[in-house]
Parts: sequence; C-alpha cells; structure tokens
Amino acid sequence: MNDSTDTLKQLRYLAAALKAPRITETAGRLAEQARDANWTHEDYLAAVLEREVSARNASGARLRIRAAGFPAVKTLEDFDFDAQPAIRQQIAALGSGAFLTEARNIVLLGPPGTGKTHVATGLAVKACQTGHRVLFATATDWVTRLTDAHRHGRLPHELTRLRRYGLIIVDEVGYLPFEQDAANLFFQLVSSRYEHASLILTSNLPFSGWGTVFGDQAVAAAMIDRIVHHADVLTLKGASYRLRGRGIDSLPSIKTQNQAD
Ligand code: ADP
Ligand code: MG
Repeated sequence: MNDSTDTLKQLRYLAAALKAPRITETAGRLAEQARDANWTHEDYLAAVLEREVSARNASGARLRIRAAGFPAVKTLEDFDFDAQPAIRQQIAALGSGAFLTEARNIVLLGPPGTGKTHVATGLAVKACQTGHRVLFATATDWVTRLTDAHRHGRLPHELTRLRRYGLIIVDEVGYLPFEQDAANLFFQLVSSRYEHASLILTSNLPFSGWGTVFGDQAVAAAMIDRIVHHADVLTLKGASYRLRGRGIDSLPSIKTQNQAD
C-alpha cells in the first residue's frame, strides 16, 4: 500500500467522522484540478469546503421546500410577468427576502386564477432557499389546526411553535366564511406574528369584503390593521390564467371582483 492510498483511506475516515462523506469525492476530483492549475493549499481547501457548503445548503432548501406543504412547487422564474406587469417591480424587490428579516407581511389580492398562489409559493420557495422555515396552508386549514390546538388546551404552545417559522402562508382568505370562534383564533395567529415573523395572505376579496368572511367587522378591522401596518399589498388583475385562450373571459367571481374594485 503506498502513501497516497493511505491518505485517501484517512480522508474517507475523516470525512465520514465529519458527516461529510461527499468530501472524499470532491477532494480527489479537485486535487487533480489543483495540481493542473497550481492552486495554493488555501485555494484548494476553500474549493473543497465551498462544494460541501453549497451541497448542504441545497439539500437544506430541498428539505424546507418539502416540509412547507406547497400544493405545487412554483417559482418566480416560472411566472409570466407580462400577464401581471403591474406587480413586476414589487415582486423583484420582495424577491430579495428583506421582508422576512423585517417581519413584514405580503397581501396578494385578485380574482381567481390570476396567480396569487403561484406568486406566494414562488416567494416562499425563495425563502426556503435562503434558510427560512416555511409553512403553507389555506385559511380553512389554519382554522382547523388552531381550533384543534385550542380544543386540546395548547393554543399558546402552538402559536409559539409557529413563530419559529419565518414565513407562514395563508392561502384563500375569503373562499369560505369563518365561524366567530374561528375568526378569533385566526386573529390570535395574526397578533402572535405581528412584528415577529412574516405572513403572506392571498384573497379573492378586497379588504372591504373581509368583514363578512370573519363574521365581525370589528375583528376584521383589528386584524387588517395589524396585517397591513408593515405590509406590501399587491393587486393582481385580469382574467384567469387558467382560462387563457379558451374563449372564456368571464367567470361569475370575476364579475364580483370587478364590482368590488
Ligand atoms: P390564484 O391563486 O390567483 O387562483 P394560481 O396561482 O393558482 O391562481 O394560478 C392558476 C394557474 O395558472 C397555476 O397553475 C399558475 O401556475 C398559473 N399561472 C397564473 N398566472 C400565471 C402567470 N402570470 N405566469 C405563469 N403561470 C401562471
Ligand atoms: Mg389560489
């Protein structure tokens, strides 16, 4: 057995001890490149570690994306901004993720099929890629979860646990009206995150319609106040992207939205 075989064995052992078995493979591959290009020892070490760190970040992002519970993984890169030119600038700014560190919220309003869920997911995927934990659910699902926690006497515990997620998405506010109890639970979710962690909400109703959803104008007003205090509100417009090119340009809900505008 020669020296280099011994060294490779030792490398394999050390990489396994560091729980970074990939290093064995990159170290060998990059050693050839380093010799060919006369890298310094420092350059070589940095290159090996850099590969390991980016591989770890990528697998962390994959795990966070899987754990978030998106209905479908969509990215901002896949979004056709020509269909929503008015929000292009805002989304470009929000894509930096600064809203997360500032615990700001985003509200996406607009008729069905205009891309609210897509944009919310795209922003959230970016958040996952930059190390934030994310949870996605519809408003109805959130109410079910919170009601369940409340029933078992662990609502405060659940709200504390949820604050460890840098971003929570509440999709489809307004598709179904809430019971009064549910509206109060939802209000507690919004209050517990206020100025601590971000929310993205989507709704097919303008804010003026939220009172009906929450069954109480006062609860709705107090909640909108907290949500919007530090928020970007984006309005998506037009016909459903789903129905494009199908010769259908008016859905009953689109007419409702237009009246609300
Ligand atoms: P909403 O949540 O507003 O009802 P979705 O985000 O679910 O709408 O969009 C409906 C479908 O159309 C999804 O498959 C989405 O990816 C697609 N879509 C909507 N708008 C766009 C767009 N501007 N560019 C690309 N795909 C879009
Ligand atoms: Mg949607």
